[in-house]
Amino acid sequence: MSLENASVATMEGGPSSAVDFDRDYLMTIDGELVGSDQTVPAYNPATKAVIAEVPDATRAQLDAAVAAARRAFPGWAATPLAERQAALSAIADRMEERAEDFLALLTREQGKSRPQAEWEIFGSVAWLREIAKQSVPDEVVEESDERRVVTRFTPLGVAGGIVPWNFPVLLAVWKIAPALVTGNCMVVKPSPFTPLCTLKLGELCRDLLPAGVLSVVSGGDDLGRWMTAHPGIDKIAFTGHTDTGKHVMRSAADNLKRLTLELGGNDPAIVLGDVDPAEIAPKLFWAAFQNNAQFCNSTKRLYVHDDVYDAVRDELVAFAQTIKVGDGAEADTDLGPIQNEPQFEKVLEYIEDCKANGHRIVLGGDVDASAAGWFVPVTLVDDPPEDSRIVAEEPFGPILPLLRWRDEDDVVARANDTRYGLGASVWGKDLDAVQRIGAQLEAGTVWLNEVHQYSPYQAFGGYKESGIGCENSLHGLMEYTNWQTVTLNRAGGV
Ligand code: NAD
Repeated sequence: MSLENASVATMEGGPSSAVDFDRDYLMTIDGELVGSDQTVPAYNPATKAVIAEVPDATRAQLDAAVAAARRAFPGWAATPLAERQAALSAIADRMEERAEDFLALLTREQGKSRPQAEWEIFGSVAWLREIAKQSVPDEVVEESDERRVVTRFTPLGVAGGIVPWNFPVLLAVWKIAPALVTGNCMVVKPSPFTPLCTLKLGELCRDLLPAGVLSVVSGGDDLGRWMTAHPGIDKIAFTGHTDTGKHVMRSAADNLKRLTLELGGNDPAIVLGDVDPAEIAPKLFWAAFQNNAQFCNSTKRLYVHDDVYDAVRDELVAFAQTIKVGDGAEADTDLGPIQNEPQFEKVLEYIEDCKANGHRIVLGGDVDASAAGWFVPVTLVDDPPEDSRIVAEEPFGPILPLLRWRDEDDVVARANDTRYGLGASVWGKDLDAVQRIGAQLEAGTVWLNEVHQYSPYQAFGGYKESGIGCENSLHGLMEYTNWQTVTLNRAGGV
């Protein structure tokens, strides 16, 4: 592969400028753009209009992508690290160059507002650039007159990436970048609800990578099932529901695929009695409602100390009333629609369940059935029982239960009483108390007086049924490698 040639092609109006984000959504398989006899529609969730038809990959097309990846693997694994890193940087440059197209298309297919699309697209660019600086160095275990022992981290082969619809681009990049920099090839599958940006990303990478190193295939859940069972795939990096993750794990057993599973969450936030309600309300609001609460790490249970409960609730209601829910394409929109109809129906079910069980809704709760898109107003539920569905389950939409607490041990026990363990946060002025409570929380990420702070250098993963393994950081990179220990007996045999 020649990166020099690739950049020349771009400067001369080559492949990048030829990529049209408004049409021709095709798969990238073995470096070629490929359609399919069958297609599936993609919708704009703000209007419910069909905005594109997308290839529904056949099993033979998946086989072709995997075969191409297997063919490309020896060459890519042998490509010097610096060149693989440079390829990721080139992809970052390409994405940045086409950022406006990505932003518009992401809003169109996912629904998110402009600021939230910027978070995702520029985050993806930053991630590619930073992962491009990473590598897993050899570990010299012994260096003596007698022996040299080194543990090396070799690529696994072909990785499959399966991505959800809430952060379609960023979560694809979180898989593509570590897979490629460690010398693996990847076949990536976007969610059937949000395939468009990922298909365009594949198309944009065609002249930046040797054929077969990165293929993008689109289709439904069956395609995911074929990937997890495919004997030519050595690892699955999956982000999605916990229940789907369990299917993935069972299916991957046949050839003992390596797995990284990033699954659901029911993140608690614990607010101490010493906070300033007016100051903290906007922070708590965004902890819960960023990406319209379609976020694995949204605060999904808000435990507020009794001393400030009423004041925090009232400030949250007041702040939430300043938020505009609407079409993400409108400049003043803060929160977009629910991304797809099944999810919309699911969120409505939680609202109905709250009403049926007499939980007090202090804001929202009334969905306009005549609206153009799948819109749900910000909905706040006042201290429902701990075993109510809205507390115990993951609604994945803009409905948040507020819960009172008085006793520290009790609130810690309630926060931990869940099958999930993805994230958690603690908020307060007494930093000793904040840290003491944080240390007892069972979650892969514990934020203290902040939330949603991520980095390519921070391991991100879940406790319990929120996942296995992690993404990002050296630990995340190592999930794409074998350990190979090589021992050399300096005197041996000769
Ligand atoms: P989902 O599990 O329905 O789908 C995720 C992906 O898996 C999609 O590409 C889908 O086509 C594919 N898929 C579906 N069934 C499959 C199967 N049996 N085998 C293989 N692949 C299959 O999840 P979703 O609705 O797209 O996303 C929402 C969920 O993702 C929420 O639970 C959320 O918390 C979770 N999530 C977790 C993280 C994290 O990092 N932990 C991040 C974002 C979202």
